[in-house]
Amino acid sequence: MTHDFTTPYAEGPPLRTTAPFTARTSPDGREVVVEGCCPRCQGTTASPFPVGLPGSGGTKGILSRLVGRSPGADPARDVLATEVFFCECGYAHPQQPTDVPFVGCGASWRVLVPPPGGHGA
Ligand SMILES: [Zn+2]
Ligand SMILES: [Zn+2]
Repeated sequence: MTHDFTTPYAEGPPLRTTAPFTARTSPDGREVVVEGCCPRCQGTTASPFPVGLPGSGGTKGILSRLVGRSPGADPARDVLATEVFFCECGYAHPQQPTDVPFVGCGASWRVLVPPPGGHGA
């Protein structure tokens, strides 16, 4: 898949994707970075999500709802399975507003994570 730069910017209800997104916890355990390819424009996107950071908001206002999240046994998986992700491919797609919180194609999506314990599937 190659990044489709001609995809016009558009926001809408979150898509659902089974694309292989990876979630990794930062070395200090305070952030989960989710990386993958946008299901709409196929651009590479990486979104940091703060975990277990009471009283400290993210740099992006839209993430402030995450403040106070208590880290679970596997915060990376938790973030991957529950959060809505936004395209942050970094490319100024056609018709992109100037004040968008995430520079990308405007897509948002949820990742359908297989249930735990599904070895060999
Ligand atoms: Zn995109
Ligand atoms: Zn893009």
